[in-house]
Amino acid sequence: MSQNSVLGRCVEHDEEGMQLALEQARYAYKAGEVPVGAVVVSEGVVIGVGFNQPISTLDPSAHAEVVAVRDAAQRIGNYRLPGATLYVTVEPCTMCTGLLIHSRIARVVYGASEPKAGAMHSALQLPQQPCFNHQLLVTGGILADSCAELMSSFFAMRRAGKKRLQQGRDVGHIERG
Ligand SMILES: [Zn+2]
Repeated sequence: MSQNSVLGRCVEHDEEGMQLALEQARYAYKAGEVPVGAVVVSEGVVIGVGFNQPISTLDPSAHAEVVAVRDAAQRIGNYRLPGATLYVTVEPCTMCTGLLIHSRIARVVYGASEPKAGAMHSALQLPQQPCFNHQLLVTGGILADSCAELMSSFFAMRRAGKKRLQQGRDVGHIERG
């Protein structure tokens, strides 16, 4: 199945939207990127998809939310997405929360909380700041376990890979000595 094959798919409830975001997150995982995925749903239909890809695109802004919102805006031909809902597997960071406010998205639904850098509820509560003139509705914790499990399995794999590399270097050092 290709990354875009969910476009046009109907989404009737939040778990369904999050399943599709998780599907996107798995594309990031396979590409060796931190596994975060997002989809934008408008009038019950998927209009944008994205997964985290800053390393492969050499673009520090290429978070799943940014990629999905850009995709949706291009497809509907509007720089704002009023009435739309963004599903994302992990609580958005400060940059993405700013983007979601600028895009006039109506609602954000996230899976796992991000205690260190989450800007919705955890580290900061950006949407509640009175300086913004757009109200963002936020729902967290949808399929949180599956979303968190994908993240922890990715980091465990990366740690194991680094350990193997480290051991390889140690062996090389001994041989050279
Ligand atoms: Zn972000």
